[in-house]
Amino acid sequence: MAEIRIQNVWKTFGKVVAVKDVTLTVEDREFVILLGPSGCGKTTLLRCISGLEQVDRGTISIGGRDVTNLPPRRRGIAMVFQSYAVFPHMTVFDNIAFGLRMKKLPKDEIERRVRDAAALMHIEDLLDRYPAQLSGGQRQRVAVARAIAVQSEVLLMDEPLSNLDALLRLEMRAELKRLFTELETTVVYVTHDQVEAMSMGDRIAVMREGEILQFDTPVRVYDYPADRFIGGFIGNPPMNFLVADVEDGRVVVHGTPIEVPPLVLEHLKPPRTLVGIRAENIELFTEQQEGAIPVQVLVVEPLGSHNLVTARADGDIIKVNTPADLRLAPDQRVWIRFVPEKIRWFDAQTGKALPVDYQAVEAARVG
Ligand code: ATP
Repeated sequence: MAEIRIQNVWKTFGKVVAVKDVTLTVEDREFVILLGPSGCGKTTLLRCISGLEQVDRGTISIGGRDVTNLPPRRRGIAMVFQSYAVFPHMTVFDNIAFGLRMKKLPKDEIERRVRDAAALMHIEDLLDRYPAQLSGGQRQRVAVARAIAVQSEVLLMDEPLSNLDALLRLEMRAELKRLFTELETTVVYVTHDQVEAMSMGDRIAVMREGEILQFDTPVRVYDYPADRFIGGFIGNPPMNFLVADVEDGRVVVHGTPIEVPPLVLEHLKPPRTLVGIRAENIELFTEQQEGAIPVQVLVVEPLGSHNLVTARADGDIIKVNTPADLRLAPDQRVWIRFVPEKIRWFDAQTGKALPVDYQAVEAARVG
């Protein structure tokens, strides 16, 4: 059992609060992603779990054991960092075998584990080379192989794929995910790449300025962002946000009243609310329609399976997915309508999600 329990952890560097009162439980064998923009405290939080940083306040336990004051080597973890520190004077084989020799494992067990880890990372042919004879991406794979070979119950990874080219990243994402499911390892994985986070994690902890803003499954973080920042950070394109006027039980966007599910209305307070809607939940028409907002096409980007249309309504820029065969010209006037059940509602001032029961909204539509 290797559950990681972080309770009220603080870490400051001088005046910078890098980790601010973080409480988070990573379940045994769970794959949790720490995601957020540069400087939000992801690496610092990971280093606190590893013991490379001492926390100022709070506690950390791994597998039910309080490790807050233990050095890294006594925490039962393996780590991979962005800087992929491999030993330059050792061959790839010896680099991967290093942790296993420290554990004094039998020679044939070491040999087997090194070859398995190397095969997984596609570096079987490089075992006799020295790091200076490898590319950056190959060195990074050696670092991952070394951590995997140890087979510890907890693996901490800080942007381990950042130096790989796009294709290899894609392949590695899928392989790492499969690997950790098989190995039954508890993984905490730092990235600022939201695609990596969405595709790999069981749950994502979205961080900003040292705090965890939302901790949930990728699908829920994408569909129900806890605030405007998260909706804008997760997803490509980001969620669209528009200010809407609320008056007499109606919601008006750019002069057009839009349909609002009854269960939502009770949460909306005049005079304004913030509407969040994803590109795939907007319908686009080339002729005027009831309840559709007039916009002007700015750019059409063909993406193969569909087109991404960037449109403008006064000062607002809106991204809309359209069928690949729909022909639109720049400057063309078109109309857009939001799928009512897919609108997410936020406080216009704070940007926080309003407490709408979206399941009930969906159920009411289906029913
Ligand atoms: P990135 O994605 O750029 O690596 P991050 O989210 O991992 O960013 P951290 O590296 O954890 O962020 O840094 C959080 C804050 O703490 C930043 O403001 C950073 O400048 C500061 N910080 C981190 N380490 C130190 C240190 N050793 N001394 C002083 N300040 C630090």
